[in-house]
Amino acid sequence: MNRQAALLERLADIVGPSGIITDRPELESYSVDWRRLFPGRPSCVVRPSSSMQVAQVVQACREAGVPLVPQGGNTGLAGGAVPDASGTQIVLSLNRMTAIREVDPVGLAIEAEAGCILKVAQDAAQAAGRLLPVSLAAEGSATIGGVVAANAGGVNVLRYGMTRSLVLGLEVVLPDGSIANGLRRLRKDNAGYDWKQLFIGSEGTLGIVTAAVLRLVPRPKRAVTALLSVADPDAALRLLELAQDELGDQISAFELISRMSLDLVEKHAGLKPPIAEGEWFVLIEAASSLAGLREAAEAMLGAAFERGIALDGVIAESGAQAAQLWALREHVTESEARGGKSVKHDVSVPLPAIPHFVADAWKAVAAGVPGARANVFGHLGDGNLHYNVLVEDSHDTGTVNRIVHDIVAAYGGSISAEHGIGQYRVGELARYRPSTEMELARKIKKALDPEGLLNPGKVLSP
Ligand SMILES: Cc1cc2nc3c(=O)[nH]c(=O)nc-3n(C[C@H](O)[C@H](O)[C@H](O)COP(=O)(O)OP(=O)(O)OC[C@H]3O[C@@H](n4cnc5c(N)ncnc54)[C@H](O)[C@@H]3O)c2cc1C
Repeated sequence: MNRQAALLERLADIVGPSGIITDRPELESYSVDWRRLFPGRPSCVVRPSSSMQVAQVVQACREAGVPLVPQGGNTGLAGGAVPDASGTQIVLSLNRMTAIREVDPVGLAIEAEAGCILKVAQDAAQAAGRLLPVSLAAEGSATIGGVVAANAGGVNVLRYGMTRSLVLGLEVVLPDGSIANGLRRLRKDNAGYDWKQLFIGSEGTLGIVTAAVLRLVPRPKRAVTALLSVADPDAALRLLELAQDELGDQISAFELISRMSLDLVEKHAGLKPPIAEGEWFVLIEAASSLAGLREAAEAMLGAAFERGIALDGVIAESGAQAAQLWALREHVTESEARGGKSVKHDVSVPLPAIPHFVADAWKAVAAGVPGARANVFGHLGDGNLHYNVLVEDSHDTGTVNRIVHDIVAAYGGSISAEHGIGQYRVGELARYRPSTEMELARKIKKALDPEGLLNPGKVLSP
């Protein structure tokens, strides 16, 4: 029996025959990323059903010297969850570990296994009258493990922070096959290094998240959602300032959407925006359990119109209307994907620099990429824009990246605000992050995964 067959047999002993996939057609959905940019070829997919099985799988692969690629819902936008094309890497899917172990409405915490779908966890929190504030358009497929490993952002970061700020405890299988169980629910825990932080946002390169305890918040009883048109990103920023003055921390989302984004959504998702005119739009949501939210929001919007900051707008009159407004925003990524080739950028710059960044980036893209169009949208309240450039198939991605990222760097920004590095931005990270920071990252990787068998080629070059 050759080594590969021997490893397969050992893995099947650990997870049972139904936990192993080797048939090519069945491997397909595990092999290529959501955007279909990185087609890979796994030797097999292994699907453990417990943390102990994950640990045994890691141990077996380590002894055989075979690399593992952790995968959750495979909705990542940086190619982090798929194997390379060598046919030697094994995908470790968490999709059999889906249990919600506990929802604690008093302690405001939820404990779930890594493969639990984010939406299922949100619904469980809602059933207990609480809110799990991580919210993103892929929540029907993304998993708790993937959200933690990617330190996902989404639409509620402005109020509740990134996933990192919601993680109370983690269980992680380390590259040596041991299990670090830190599934604590403590709000305060300064006992030694807070090691879980290393794994949040590490994109499966340092350990495999098998379960997590996430912080819940009281569910706001009321929400006000509005879509407004504004003249430009500078006006959007002034609207944010006004909203912060008048509504304070009740603002839970503040999204910028360009006309191009709405056109794509109308064309590919068939959703018509309720405001016909305008080049830039803001989707704003405020939420609170206290009475008077709507009055305060209407007063703020009235002031925005009076001062000429907002040009036109609609306030949702019902939950269904609010969902319709959100659908416009949530369909942008998918509609863009249907519209042809786009070169994506997930960048952040300091908030006051946003209007300058948008203007400079467009000048540079228009000059350097003939025929290009910009699809700009994103979490403006967090200084995070998806500055995506729609191009012909023949255009070189690297050239477009360089144009946009150089401007991001000039404003002291980040080339990945929330989507991570994966394999898509490995070269760009090395280019824009100072060498001392890259060296520190390599030392951490080497200390935890000296053989480099966990998700090789992601985040750091091998
Ligand atoms: C339409 C759409 C909208 C999106 N919107 C947002 C958004 O607003 N904000 C945002 O931040 N992201 C967004 N994303 C990206 C994506 O949904 C998130 O990154 C999500 O957290 C990925 O979860 P997943 O389970 O699909 O992870 P995967 O795609 O399977 O994996 C992502 C990374 O985490 C690693 N990983 C997965 N599970 C584990 C685990 N258990 N242990 C260790 N490593 C693991 C993988 O190896 C990979 O590197 C969007 C994606 C789509 C398709």
